[in-house]
Amino acid sequence: MKTIGIIGAMREEITPLLDFFKKYEEIKIGGNSFYTTTYKNYNIVIAYSKIGKIHAALTCSTIALHFHADYIIFTGVAGGLSSDLKVGDIVLASSLCQYDVDISAFGHPLGFIPESKLYIDTDSNLNEIAKKAAIKQNIKLKYGIIASGDSFISSATKKQWIIDKFNACAVEMEGASIAVVSSLLNIPFCIIRAISDSADDNADISFDEFLVDSAKRSAAFIISILDEIQ
Ligand code: SAH
Repeated sequence: MKTIGIIGAMREEITPLLDFFKKYEEIKIGGNSFYTTTYKNYNIVIAYSKIGKIHAALTCSTIALHFHADYIIFTGVAGGLSSDLKVGDIVLASSLCQYDVDISAFGHPLGFIPESKLYIDTDSNLNEIAKKAAIKQNIKLKYGIIASGDSFISSATKKQWIIDKFNACAVEMEGASIAVVSSLLNIPFCIIRAISDSADDNADISFDEFLVDSAKRSAAFIISILDEIQ
């Protein structure tokens, strides 16, 4: 049986999945709990990493190397950067970048790390499956670049800077580390995010208000992807 790893950053982002699967086992590794179950003909491993790129990289590595995931899917919430995104909308990442990497003093482009890539592409097959699932659910998916960094963006100025420099449609704090780890370990991955806020001066209030609802929307969409993978 193939194994699908599903990662969130915060407990709220995986709770709807645990509620859906109901029965699961808990395995603790590296300060995280990994919840294992089966769905149709797949093994499923679910975990939340804690916030930020380093935590997400550890969780993703554990799901890849300890649980031998064949696919990795991220579910969670994000700040919307595109003006056409509103709270609750779902974004499917075309590629991920790290907006907070800066070794431009040596002439490198912002976000670029030597021997890596500025933008890391998500898996086209998983993206096609997600797009099909969205059509069936009548969900209008936004497909575009997601920028990750270790800050909660709650300023119109910072938001505009990320749009200008990275052409991203959404911002969050983990996606790019999932992209780095999964791509280096040759595991197909995709990143799904429901918008919780607009990364502007009002973002903290919006996030607190919509985290649970948007996390549920993202998780519900993950289930429809699992149904489509069959
Ligand atoms: N309120 C939380 C902190 C949330 S940090 C606490 O006090 O513990 C924001 C989380 O949601 C991160 O996991 C990030 O990936 C995502 N996110 C949502 N909106 C974001 C934004 N505007 N900027 C950066 N990350 C955002």
